[in-house]
Amino acid sequence: MSHLPNSLEARDVAYQLHSYTDARRHEEAGPLVIERGEGVYVYDTSGKRYIEGMAGLWSVALGFGEKRLAAAAARQMEKLPYYHTFAHKSHAPSVELAEKLVAMAPVPMSKAYFTNSGSEANDTAIKMIWYRSNALGQPERKKIISRVKGYHGVTIASASLTGLPNNHRSFDLPIDKVLHTTCPHYRTMARPGESEADFARRCAQDLEELILKEGPETVAAFFAEPVMGAGGVIVPPQGYWEAIQPVLKKYDILFVADEVICGFGRTGDAFGSTTYGLEPDMMTLSKQLSSSYLPISALLVNEKVYAPIADESHAIGTWGHGFTGSGHPVAAAVALENLKIMEERDVLGHVRQVAPHFQARLRALARHPLAVEARGIGMLGAVEFSHEMLRDKPGALGGRIFAAMQEKGLIARNLYDTVAFCPPLIISEDEIDAMFDMAEAAVAEVA
Ligand code: PLP
Repeated sequence: MSHLPNSLEARDVAYQLHSYTDARRHEEAGPLVIERGEGVYVYDTSGKRYIEGMAGLWSVALGFGEKRLAAAAARQMEKLPYYHTFAHKSHAPSVELAEKLVAMAPVPMSKAYFTNSGSEANDTAIKMIWYRSNALGQPERKKIISRVKGYHGVTIASASLTGLPNNHRSFDLPIDKVLHTTCPHYRTMARPGESEADFARRCAQDLEELILKEGPETVAAFFAEPVMGAGGVIVPPQGYWEAIQPVLKKYDILFVADEVICGFGRTGDAFGSTTYGLEPDMMTLSKQLSSSYLPISALLVNEKVYAPIADESHAIGTWGHGFTGSGHPVAAAVALENLKIMEERDVLGHVRQVAPHFQARLRALARHPLAVEARGIGMLGAVEFSHEMLRDKPGALGGRIFAAMQEKGLIARNLYDTVAFCPPLIISEDEIDAMFDMAEAAVAEVA
């Protein structure tokens, strides 16, 4: 595609390397340049309107154009645009947000620690866990287990946790202290004749076998999303968490719940951990924490994690970790305002009200003959289509559906041949209908 010289599109191709993009194809195809947003809609430079069916990257809970968030940022910018949290310094927005998150946590948590992205939160969690093992005089306890198809980010350590080939291939990852256990996707991973409950038990058995093979005294932590997101929206089978958690307790392995997608209402509860009765020792939070108006993430740690870190920092003189932007006052002020608006407008109540309709339309989309499965909970969902039935290469059908949806005015996401939907939490029933009407029309057109 050729773009006008000096257009944003042409300059983008000339100067910008994009995340998760085939760079050579981008040189040909160019970008879709989004100019503004309002509610569940974004508009491109030609004025064309799209429903943002992915809330950006699973993150813009309150939708686009929320003026109170802009005002909160402006107020804080004028008062104190920047300060840090190193070396005993603090400021009101970071204190208030830490207090708020500890109060909101579904299980007792001691402290909040701030970072700037989900990846940094998970990376920091690994460093905390290693520091803690050293503090406890267990230097051999450093291995971390996550799951095939889990998504935890892209830094060297968090990309290692991620269980997807594209995050490892050509990057020389994962690092050797990170191990992956079975993906809990019943349809693809269960053995013939295995019930969902039996499959869930086998996932827990696989985890236990891996722990025993490695030596329980060498395994420090298990990382998991309550519901897998970027791996294809994989909802755990019945009984999964009930089987997994006792294994972790048995071997005294820390449980880190990655709530970067699930947190703040996505599953129909405040946290995915609430929905599934999880009792994590640490939680990582981001995305909907600030509706992604500014980058911010947080780790919550319980006393079992905090106390040895505090002792070690005292012994050696510092907890030698921190980002310039940790607890950034403007980002923290936006997150606080975001959480306040969610409460005032009862966004969770709204999610509970519209989620059944969202899930019904998702399942209706999966009645297409090429669809093999609908998966979802709350305002998170995906339909998997079969490239095998068309004898197509993996991802080609998903790519065509994605393009047809975009042409009709819907931005959703294709994860190979799985089409994911994760709209702003404030979406109305009519907007849900408009979204799935476009998705159905796109699928009918190309499949
Ligand atoms: N964890 C989960 C569950 C995610 O979905 C993501 C991003 O999609 C991350 C971590 C990484 O977050 P970030 O992209 O902010 O580094």
